[in-house]
Amino acid sequence: MIKIGVLGLQGAVREHIKSVEASGAEGLIIKKKEQLDEIDGLILPGGESTTMRRLIDKYDFFDALKNFGKQGKPIFGTCAGLILLATDIIGQEHSHLQLMDMKVERNAFGRQKESFETALNIQGVAEDFEAVFIRAPYVIEVGSDVEVLATFKDSIVAAKQGHYLCCAFHPELTEDHRLTAYFVKMVENAKKELAS
Ligand code: GLN
Repeated sequence: MIKIGVLGLQGAVREHIKSVEASGAEGLIIKKKEQLDEIDGLILPGGESTTMRRLIDKYDFFDALKNFGKQGKPIFGTCAGLILLATDIIGQEHSHLQLMDMKVERNAFGRQKESFETALNIQGVAEDFEAVFIRAPYVIEVGSDVEVLATFKDSIVAAKQGHYLCCAFHPELTEDHRLTAYFVKMVENAKKELAS
C-alpha cells in the first residue's frame, strides 16, 4: 500500500491523515526526519508557515525535506505548506524549501476575507471542488515548468510542478477527498517510476 506522511510539527495534521486514508493510502504522522524513509509521498499541512519553519529548523528537518523532494518523491503543500514550497515570498527576504518555482503572497485575500468557501474548478481533479480558504496565500507568478491547476478571481490557488503539488486552501477540512486522491495517484505513479 502507498504510504503518505503528513508533517506533524504544527497545523491541521489529523484531518489530512483521514483524507489520505479515505483516498485508499496509509497515512503516517511524521515527527522525526528518519520517518521520511518510510514514506512514498509527503503532505505539508496548513498552519502558520513561519512557526512551521521554526520547528523544521528546531527538529533538523530542513535538508531532509529538501532531499526527499530532490529524490523524486512527491510533496503536496497546502496553504502554509504552499508557502514553504515556494521559491519567493512577497515582502520576505528569505523563503523556505524553494522546491516550486513560484512567487507567493501570504494572507493574500485580505482581512475581511479571513476565511471563505467556494466551489473551484481544478484541472484534472474536479469542476466543483469544495475549497475552504483560511488566511490563505495565493500564487502571484509561476515559472515555465509550473502548471496552473486552479484560479479564484484571477489568482492562482492550485498548481503542479512535476512531482510537487500545492494549493492555497485546505483540502482536508471537508469530505471532498478528490484533490488528496489526485495526490495519492501522483505518489503511485512516482513510486512506479522510481522503482523502474
Ligand atoms: N497565513 C498562514 C501563513 O502565512 C497560512 C494559513 C493557513 O495555512 N491556513 O503561514
